[in-house]
Formats: sequence, C-alpha cells, structure tokens
Amino acid sequence: MRLIDADALEDNLEATIKVYKRNAKYDESLLRQVNALKLELKIIKDAPTIEPKRGRWVTHGVAKGSEICDQCGFVQLRHRVNNYCPNCGARMEASDD
Ligand SMILES: [Zn+2]
Repeated sequence: MRLIDADALEDNLEATIKVYKRNAKYDESLLRQVNALKLELKIIKDAPTIEPKRGRWVTHGVAKGSEICDQCGFVQLRHRVNNYCPNCGARMEASDD
C-alpha cells in the first residue's frame, strides 16, 4: 500500500483541467484529455479511504537511545525523528517524554 495526499492530487488535476479547457479552443484533442482527466478525478474521489492509524514513539527499555512504535513494535534510533512509523505507517503523535 502506498499512501498519497489525494487532496493535492485532486487540486493538481483540477488545475490541469482548467488549463486544458482554456486551450481547448486551439486544440480539440485537449477536450478528450479534459474528459479523461475528469474521469480520473471521479475515480480518485470515489476511491475507498481509510483513517490513518495513530501511534506514539515510546521509550524502549532494552536498547538505550531507541524508541518503539506502540502500534507495531518497530524500533528506531531516538535521534531519528519520524512523524510516521516506517514499518506500519502510523502517524506519530508526541512522544512520551
Ligand atoms: Zn509502527
């Protein structure tokens, strides 16, 4: 699974559609591309969504200087600051210290 910012993708497609529509009077093939992009946009908007998992980095008692994801147990070195768990994808909230 690959998580993306669908809102940013929708904004980008809508901006492209506007430009294509503006130039369609010079190039009729752009109208077909506008319709194709509108279909892609509808597919994106209708796609099922999931709520991102939330987690926290908690101090890891075994390995000094490391933290553990409370959702999947992934251990990372504490000096690495990740806003998400690279193993399970949980969006991390403030740590426990
Ligand atoms: Zn995790």
